[in-house]
Amino acid sequence: MIRVTKTFLPPQEEYQAILKKAWDSGWITNRGVLIKELEEKLKNYLQVPNIIATTNGTLPLQIAIKALGLKGEIITTPFSYVATTSSIVWEGCSPVFVDIHPEYLTIDETKIEAAITSKTTAILATHVFGNPCDVETIQTIAKKHNLKVIYDAAHCFGVTYKNQSIFKFGDISTCSFHATKLFHTGEGGAMFTNSEEIHDILFYQHNFGHQGPESIQGIGINAKMSELQAALGLSVLPYLDIIMNERRSVVNQYNETIDFSKITTFKLRGNTNWNYSYYPILFKDETVLLKVQAKLIENNIIPRRYFYPSLNTLDYINSKTINISESIASRVLCLPLYVGLKKEETDKIVEIININV
Ligand SMILES: *Cc1c(COP(=O)(O)O)cnc(C)c1O
Repeated sequence: MIRVTKTFLPPQEEYQAILKKAWDSGWITNRGVLIKELEEKLKNYLQVPNIIATTNGTLPLQIAIKALGLKGEIITTPFSYVATTSSIVWEGCSPVFVDIHPEYLTIDETKIEAAITSKTTAILATHVFGNPCDVETIQTIAKKHNLKVIYDAAHCFGVTYKNQSIFKFGDISTCSFHATKLFHTGEGGAMFTNSEEIHDILFYQHNFGHQGPESIQGIGINAKMSELQAALGLSVLPYLDIIMNERRSVVNQYNETIDFSKITTFKLRGNTNWNYSYYPILFKDETVLLKVQAKLIENNIIPRRYFYPSLNTLDYINSKTINISESIASRVLCLPLYVGLKKEETDKIVEIININV
C-alpha cells in the first residue's frame, strides 16, 4: 500500500539515546533540557529570532487569536485545513472568507479590502502547501486598516521568501510538527513572532499564564510540548537534509512524468525557496478526479483530497458560495510524497493518472 505520506522515523536507537536523558533526569515535561535544545536548534536552522514549541499546530492558532485580543470578524481563506477556520470559531470570532488565487491557491489579496467591515480585526491566511501568500500586499492592507495578521504556516518548515524564513512574516506565524508534516515530533507545533512583547504574551499563554511557579500573568492554556516530543524532534533534525533531498527528487520525478496537458499544479510564488512539502494536482473537474482516485485505490495507492471540503461549506459556517476555492477543492488531489518513495512507485502512480485523465 502506498499512502499519501509516510512518517519519517529515524533509527530507534537514536531516539532512545536522546530519551535516556529524560529518563536519567526523571523530567519528562514542563520545559526541560530537551525542549530547550530543540528550540535552540530550530532557531538556528530556521534563522528566526525566537520560537515557542507547542504540543500541536492547532493550539498556536487559537493562542495567536487570543494573544492579539481579536474580536469580531477575521478575514481568512476557505482553502486550508479545517483547523484554520475552527480556531477562529473556537475563539468566538467570525470567519469571513475571501476567495483564493486560482494558481497560487493562497488567499487572493486583491479581494481582501472589499471584505473589510467595521468589525474586522485581523487577517488569518494560510501559506498553502508551503507556497507563501502575498505577504507584502497583505501587510500594506493590514497597516492601512489597522488589522493584525496571523499566518497558518503549518506547511512551511524550511520555506524562505526573499531569503528570510517565512515564519518571520505577519504578527504571528504558526507551524505544525504533526507526524504527517515534513519535520515532526509526532504531535507538535510552534509559534513565531518578531515582537518581544507578543512573544512574552504567547509564552505565558501557552503555559497557563505562569510567570514563574507562583505568579500568574493573565489567562493561559496548556500547549506545552513534552520532553518526549522534543526527543523525537531532536532525533529527526539531523535528517533534514536527507528529507529535503529525497522529497525534491520525488517532486522532480513527478514534474518530469505527469502529462501537464490535462493536469495542472500550483504556481510557486517568486523569490521562494520551497520545501517540497506536498504534490497537489488539479484535474479538469471532480468527475475526472473521482475516476483517477478510484483507479489509484484499486492499485493500492491512497492519495488524499487535500484540502477538501472548501471550509466555507462546513456545517457550522454560514457563508456564501466561494467559487474558486470550491472549484479547486472539488478537483485537487495530493499525490504520495515521502522519503523512501521509489521511482518505480512514482512511475506507476503517474502512469495510472496519465491514462485516466
Ligand atoms: C496540519 C495543519 C494544521 C494543524 O496542525 P496539527 O499539528 O495537526 O494540530 C493546521 N493548519 C494546516 C494548514 C495544517 O495543514
